[in-house]
Amino acid sequence: MINRSGRFARRAVKVDQALDKIMQHAKRLDDEIVSIDSCIYRRIAKPVYARESMPHFRRSGMDGYAVLSEDAACATPQEPVCLKIIDEVPAGSVSARQVVPGTAIRLMTGAAVPDGADAVVMFEQTEEFQADGQDCVRIKHRTVHGQNITAIGEEIAEGQLLMGAGTRIGPGQVALLASSGYSQIAVIRRPKVGILTTGSELLAPGDPLLPGKVRNSNVFMLAAQIEQYGGAAVRYGTVPDEIEEVDRMIRAALEECDMVLVSGGVSVGDYDVMAEFFTATNGSGLELLFNKIAMRPGSPTTAAAVKDKLVFGLSGNPGACFIGFELLVRPALLAMQGAENPFPSRLRAAMAHDFDKGCPHERYIRGRLSYDANQKLSVCALKQNNSSMLVSIQDANCLIVVPSGSTGAASGQQVDVIPLPYETATYGEEGDVR
Ligand code: AMP
Ligand code: MG
Repeated sequence: MINRSGRFARRAVKVDQALDKIMQHAKRLDDEIVSIDSCIYRRIAKPVYARESMPHFRRSGMDGYAVLSEDAACATPQEPVCLKIIDEVPAGSVSARQVVPGTAIRLMTGAAVPDGADAVVMFEQTEEFQADGQDCVRIKHRTVHGQNITAIGEEIAEGQLLMGAGTRIGPGQVALLASSGYSQIAVIRRPKVGILTTGSELLAPGDPLLPGKVRNSNVFMLAAQIEQYGGAAVRYGTVPDEIEEVDRMIRAALEECDMVLVSGGVSVGDYDVMAEFFTATNGSGLELLFNKIAMRPGSPTTAAAVKDKLVFGLSGNPGACFIGFELLVRPALLAMQGAENPFPSRLRAAMAHDFDKGCPHERYIRGRLSYDANQKLSVCALKQNNSSMLVSIQDANCLIVVPSGSTGAASGQQVDVIPLPYETATYGEEGDVR
């Protein structure tokens, strides 16, 4: 029997209010230690400090000769200075000899500059010769104190902050951790996010198409979004539109996961079981955060906290599901991983065309951001932007925030734009616009 109570009695909150409520329950997860081999794209649990200076010895920046700059301060090609070569140092070795007036030590890029020397002259400015069986070198350019030597700590001073808590480990960070001697690193646990799809009409991609049925795309899209923002997606399959089954699966997912996303069934239709799930507040441990948002698409998007774990009811419509995740789930997921700023940055861009669909609420549409001929940011609304459509998601590199009002947004009007993660190689190409 379908319970329709409470379904229509919804009070819309603004997107910011919805986010405030969500963020109160998006608690940072605990730490775990991982090896440097498997730390990329994880987030640092505690600030990381330099245990050593970098470089930790005076390092030669060139293949050349370590000399006393005073010896060759006035050297020229016409009047070179001749020095005796007393040793040779490859990278990784240290000379036992000291450079004294009249001498030079041959060394390679990255080698430790021997004591006494205060300059390195590159090979191109020298000429080797032999005198009385002794290897010598002519220095043919004026030499100054410190030249071609990287001082101790010039790049990093011992004790310096390398990266703050919450930093995502990308190529630059992992290189820095490795060179600073961190073979293991404390990172924040990846949020496990359960995905449940509802809908008796759903088929798997491998199933033959049947009348009235559609293939389940949301589970794959949501899993990709979760992984993109550092979470670990756990799939709980599809449940038919039956409250007992939906309730049982959500509870099971909550046992194992840090957050649960459910697609479909949040609207006001007869079989919208999620609406029912979210209204069953008695003794369920469920705190409803909101069940309507003043936005398009995805206004029935709902969220609840169950023992401080978030459950989201996202629209089944693929476009709305995608946007609901980007606006509401993404910040929670990032906060759980300790990101310093879990909210997406917003840019301002000029509308490239009219978007004349007015709406009493803010509308979020898939768009394509690029530079126009005057190097100004310009944004196009993509075609096939309806909430039920998914084809344009792959071309979207941003969400356009169309202000509420009867007119939409006119060509040339400055609008807020939320960039989406996107392959930079194709960023800025003309899309299939409008
Ligand atoms: P609902 O939110 O359950 O009312 O579903 C809205 C629309 O989205 C319907 O046309 C559904 O068939 C479709 N839909 C629901 N779930 C999915 C899904 N997992 N993948 C693709 N489309 C879906
Ligand atoms: Mg449904």
